[in-house]
Amino acid sequence: MSQNDVSPIPSGPAPRKATRGAVIRHGRRQVLVGGGHPIVVQSMTNTDTADVAATASQISDLAQAGSELVRITVNTAAAAAAVPAIRAQLDRLNVDVPLIGDFHYNGHTLLRDYPDCAQALSKYRINPGNVGQGAKRDSQFAQMIEIACKYDKPVRIGVNWGSLDQSLLARMMDRNLQRAAPWDAQAVMYDALISSALDNAARAEALGLPGGQIILSCKVSAVQDLIAVYRALARRCDYALHLGLTEAGMGSKGIVGSAAALAVLLQEGIGDTIRISLTPDPGGARTKEVVVAQELLQTMGLRKFAPMVIACPGCGRTTSTVFQSLADTIQTFLRDRMPVWKTLHPGVESMNVAVMGCIVNGPGESKHADIGISLPGTGEEPAAPVFVDGVKTVTLHGPDIAVQFQAIVEDYIKARFRQGDTRS
Ligand code: SF4
Repeated sequence: MSQNDVSPIPSGPAPRKATRGAVIRHGRRQVLVGGGHPIVVQSMTNTDTADVAATASQISDLAQAGSELVRITVNTAAAAAAVPAIRAQLDRLNVDVPLIGDFHYNGHTLLRDYPDCAQALSKYRINPGNVGQGAKRDSQFAQMIEIACKYDKPVRIGVNWGSLDQSLLARMMDRNLQRAAPWDAQAVMYDALISSALDNAARAEALGLPGGQIILSCKVSAVQDLIAVYRALARRCDYALHLGLTEAGMGSKGIVGSAAALAVLLQEGIGDTIRISLTPDPGGARTKEVVVAQELLQTMGLRKFAPMVIACPGCGRTTSTVFQSLADTIQTFLRDRMPVWKTLHPGVESMNVAVMGCIVNGPGESKHADIGISLPGTGEEPAAPVFVDGVKTVTLHGPDIAVQFQAIVEDYIKARFRQGDTRS
């Protein structure tokens, strides 16, 4: 083959799988999930929902960080009674993020006994493995769907392998034994997860819930299982899909596992809304799961939320911590300013800022970014050239390079994105 026969290398994710779209409303705010709309970031609180002040405060933090939907557990009468007060408190704070109620075991009772809760929530999550046993199961599921229909609320039918309907699994295992060549147990488990989601979605539609108001999830905690299950689920239905690696874990393990699983699926066009189920570090911010979700989507080129910092990893050529702390300071500065900039300077989220450690790649990478700084490596002259739109504009010196550079970034944003920028 000659060099001229080589085809251009394709780039980017596969087109999104065509799914039906759900509309999740609160007041004038509408979040569209599926139907080709941008992938939605959601998160979940870990406060006691009965504690109105703490829960409203954490929801506000999550929304401020960029969570477009927030889920709260509704597990007791006190929690259900608190939901309208949480909603009212958020409305007073002008936090219009739609709330999702997470129900297990007693959702049918709580939604029936607390109509203000049913009304205040914008969507319900129902786990079909936890709606009841035996004969009660169908009637309790039906009660929840009928309430969703009455209040015009979308529903996520959220299956989780930790609470998979055991009677369904047992039936499917028995049926598997009748096969001429029985599947292995893992394949039956995958099929049971998917069947639970699809059977309950069909039942919900038969009860009157429009298919466009149904979102499905089949969460498992192992990366390869999640990929296999969602690929099959996406082949078998056109409901909007919620993606997440359940119980992803703490720190880098939780982030890497979630990113590995979700990136494969998102690249294949599968998934309409995501949550990163991180266990927070002790005392750590709950908002980390929102930041990770946004960064996953942004680094994959699927959405833009905040200016990105391009930073080299550093090496033996930059042995001081100045470069590391500047990269961290700038990243934090950009995120912290986004709530203001997003209104005043639309388009700023597409900007790239380079913070580089030495002359080897520093000037080159800085020229490719919208704005970049190349710090002096070990033994280099203590000066940091700044590049704006590919052109060196100034060289910074002295101990307050970070402050000077932040001011340059702020001025650049004010000038370039004053009325929104048309270049990106
Ligand atoms: S830019 Fe310089 S400091 Fe950064 S990794 Fe490359 S050689 Fe090392």
